[in-house]
Amino acid sequence: MLVDGNPVPAIVTDRNLSSAGLSDTDVCIFTRAGLHRLIEGSIASVSLGVHQAPGARRRRLSARIPDLATAIWFQLALFVCDSRPTRICPRCGMPYTQKRSDQTTCGSDACCQAERRAKKKVHNATDAGYMAIQGDAD
Ligand SMILES: [Zn+2]
Repeated sequence: MLVDGNPVPAIVTDRNLSSAGLSDTDVCIFTRAGLHRLIEGSIASVSLGVHQAPGARRRRLSARIPDLATAIWFQLALFVCDSRPTRICPRCGMPYTQKRSDQTTCGSDACCQAERRAKKKVHNATDAGYMAIQGDAD
């Protein structure tokens, strides 16, 4: 089976995947395998080096990336291999890696501000509802 021209470990002769007996889960597994091979091929030119920034106390292991296209593939590889949960930002619709358990947006200034405004609006509406109930009781 080929995914974007990359062979993945599956023998499927019928191009109609559902009639070939593959479930959605099977297709996801094969697609991931194809994506992983595509990423591996695209980051093959990345090398590692030890780097010490001026003034830094510790040396860091850093990736040496030859060009922009490889850098983009490298970023995708880091994103795919990150064990932290991946979420979709409810404000801008972009995927992000959740760094804290209470993180609800991608972390951009615009999305954080929009989230704060929305929470404040809900909080104010809740207060107004509470006041209305209190007012009805009197
Ligand atoms: Zn966002």
